[in-house]
Amino acid sequence: MRVGRPYFARILQTASRMACTLVWFRRDLRLTDHPALEHALRRSLPVIPVYCWSPEDEAPWQPGAASRWWLHHALEALGARLETLGSRLIVRQGSAVEVIPALARETGATSVCWHERFEPAGRSVDDRVAAALRHAGVEASVHNGVLLHNPDAVRTGSDMPYRVFTPFWKNLQQNLEVERPLPEAVFTPAHRPDAWPASASIASLGLLPTIPWDRGFYTAWQPGEAGAREALDRFVEGPIAAYDSDRNRPDRIGTSRLSPHLCFGEISPRTVWHAASARRAAMADGKPAHVFLSEVAWREFSYHLLYHFPHTPESPLNTRFEAFPWREDPEALRRWQRGETGYPIVDAGMRELWTTGWMHNRVRMIVASFLTKDLLIPWQAGARWFWDTLVDADLANNTMGWQWSAGCGADAQPFFRIFNPMSQGRRFDPDGAYVRRWAPELAKLPASDIHAPWEAAPLFRHGTGYPDPMVDHAAARDVALAAFERIK
Ligand code: FAD
Repeated sequence: MRVGRPYFARILQTASRMACTLVWFRRDLRLTDHPALEHALRRSLPVIPVYCWSPEDEAPWQPGAASRWWLHHALEALGARLETLGSRLIVRQGSAVEVIPALARETGATSVCWHERFEPAGRSVDDRVAAALRHAGVEASVHNGVLLHNPDAVRTGSDMPYRVFTPFWKNLQQNLEVERPLPEAVFTPAHRPDAWPASASIASLGLLPTIPWDRGFYTAWQPGEAGAREALDRFVEGPIAAYDSDRNRPDRIGTSRLSPHLCFGEISPRTVWHAASARRAAMADGKPAHVFLSEVAWREFSYHLLYHFPHTPESPLNTRFEAFPWREDPEALRRWQRGETGYPIVDAGMRELWTTGWMHNRVRMIVASFLTKDLLIPWQAGARWFWDTLVDADLANNTMGWQWSAGCGADAQPFFRIFNPMSQGRRFDPDGAYVRRWAPELAKLPASDIHAPWEAAPLFRHGTGYPDPMVDHAAARDVALAAFERIK
């Protein structure tokens, strides 16, 4: 097995003039453990932090509506924190391929620092920005700040990318150390430019919705680095101790809810890793924390997959599934999106998603199984809906999650393993508390009936307004298995 290459900052061109340094923020909206910023500050020249809003650069995966909501608040938080440290966030709009080299020209920057990203569109933009800078004699300094390790850091014994998580995780643990996080950036007067370049306002980017569907987001989340740190502290002081069992319980706060913070880089995976590792060392039984670390490693695995198989956001990794007889059914898709399938655990999840921009992992798996196997609607349609509605929409994780659920991805749940929404509900939401919260019209049903309301006595069922099941699960399962036979 080949040991991974350590990740070195890549200096693409040596600076010829010494004037100032740009730090190009992307999905790394933090000031602690920010290697690109740290590198810039060490040059002891004025430092100009910049964010460039360029959704077209990310096509066809431009940020969805929920991500834009988060981004607005994350930028506000970052800008405010920079101001208290005597710096500023310069906001520009337009393709980064033009905006970043133009800002370097305008400010006389001799170096631009950023963290490497791994989404196919972003990679291509970064290559073009680096080439334009190089052409102008400006250094492009690229660092690792998004992952624990570069996605190419581990490969199989036959020098191939991994397609199975367990050996990938084993290799990571045996061969790579997770570096300690850097402290919060320190700005000195020498880092302040004589004059700040012009900046657009964050409000002018128009990231917030014009109709108020986002009300529930404000009570569910605190975007920004401080909110991320609080979420991490809350988790390592409490729920991590029972993570191995409670992580599957949507009726409990058993997981960290760090995903949107990690997604926007408000906290680094190294910070999360070391906080959880320290907690593990202090526990009599470190197993729950170890399970948590393995989930953080699933994030690494999903980036490994996206990096090596960049076509997978659109196409199945297992090419046999290209011939799968998926169905076009806009009305069924709409009922699933709205949480009106008649299956309480599915509907509760879809409504939690709509109201808060997040859904519990166990329920993500259940709703994804229902869409792809009970309704035979292509996983790409589900991935698109999640993309628009999740505050943690992440191309690597979302692609892997959907392909896993549909049975066509790496290390996937086999297609023939079809989640039964009733037994999943009874097992992971035994008292029905989760369903009662998100499908309040069922609140009066006893726990014994809440996951199959059509079995409840008419007295309970009558007048709830809750829909009948849109498909019969047992029959739908047979249809799905027959469809699978055709591509086996
Ligand atoms: P915790 O259990 O506290 O885990 C800590 C962190 O580890 C998470 O924040 C996340 O970064 C990572 N992680 C945990 N589980 C997974 C996993 N299965 N795969 C990859 N990373 C994981 N996650 C996203 O961040 N963005 C997505 O767009 C996304 N889409 C998904 C779609 C489907 C169909 C499925 C089944 C899963 C998807 N996931 C996605 C993975 C997972 O559901 C979320 O990361 C998790 O629910 C976030 O909650 P948490 O922060 O409390 O997780």
